[in-house]
Parts: sequence; C-alpha cells; structure tokens
Amino acid sequence: MPDTQARILIVDDEPSIRMSMALILTQLGYHVRSAVEGFSALRAIREEMPVILITDLNMPGMSGFELLSVIWRRFPSIQKIAMSGAYSGNVVPSGVAADAFYPKGSSTSELLRIIGALPQREPHAAQPCSASAPLRIDRDGHNWSSEACVTIACPHCLRAFPQSIGTTSGFALETFCTHCGNSIQYTIVEPPGLRRAWTVDRAQNASLSI
Ligand SMILES: [Zn+2]
Repeated sequence: MPDTQARILIVDDEPSIRMSMALILTQLGYHVRSAVEGFSALRAIREEMPVILITDLNMPGMSGFELLSVIWRRFPSIQKIAMSGAYSGNVVPSGVAADAFYPKGSSTSELLRIIGALPQREPHAAQPCSASAPLRIDRDGHNWSSEACVTIACPHCLRAFPQSIGTTSGFALETFCTHCGNSIQYTIVEPPGLRRAWTVDRAQNASLSI
C-alpha cells in the first residue's frame, strides 16, 4: 500500500496536468505541491523535501531530463517518476534518471500502482548548499575581452556560468546563478603556479628592502 502521508511534488508546464493530478492525489491523502519546470522544482525542494517527485520530461527552462539528473546526484533518496506522452509502455526511457515511468494519459490506477511499487529509501537530508562553505574557485581564465573571469558551477542547479572577477580576490564573495538565481558564496583561489610566482616576488621585494 502506498504511504498516503507522502509528500509529492508534481512538475509539469501544463496547468491542466498539474491541477488534475494534484486533485486526484490530494483526495487520496497525499500532501501535494506542484512546480512549472525544473528550476522552480529545485526551489520547492529546498523549501520542503518531497518523498516522491513526478515530472514531465519536456518543459521550458530546465527540462525533466536535466531535473532528474540533478536530483539523482543531489537528492538520491527522492523517489523519481518520469512522465511523458512521447513514450509508451512502463519502461524508463534510456538516458532518463528515474525510478519509474508513467505514460501520460494512463489511468489513475496505473499511476497508483507505479507509486506503490517505488523503491523505499531512507529519509535523506538535503545536501548543504554551501551556505557556510564558500566554493573554492581557481583564478584561471579570461573572457573574450581579456577580462579575468572564472567558471562557477552552481551547487543548486549544477549548471555552470562565467563570472567576471577583475582583480577581485578574497573570501566569501557572493554572486547569483545566471540560471536559477540562487545566491552563491565563493572564494577566488590563486592557482599554484601564480601562488609560487607571487611568493617569490614577495620574497625578492622583501630582500631588496632589507
Ligand atoms: Zn543555479
């Protein structure tokens, strides 16, 4: 029997699908929330960890393919159901990081059967999102205008984006992910070669000033 107290997050860009599934599952006793695509689903997960995630695959913003991949790596305890009208049968399509597949348009009893057959996992606390541990970023590149920049991999959505830093250095700098908008704390770290040159330079200057 499915756990009717389970928290379910439904992700679909079609309002009619979100509303009809939420209505059915709420009536069956589930605690249901919904999101319109992957980035908003990740925000909803940060607010409250669902037990089960049911997501469409083709959506604007972050697709279900990418969302499932992020959740597989960041929140492995969440039970994941992919759904789509583009595939038939109950086999999880190749390349989709889900525990089960629900063909859109199938019956409610089929959905409940899939939910009931999901693998049970231990409750999992969300991985810390580096709020207290800034990312360590090597100062290692320049952009097309020769401005110093680094590549930051967002710990929330796992996408990467370039960040201009100029001559910035220091601890606990802050930027916002260009994809999901989350705040990211980071620290610029000089690569070993530069650190060595800087140290030698400092040492020479020190000896000159003696
Ligand atoms: Zn992000």
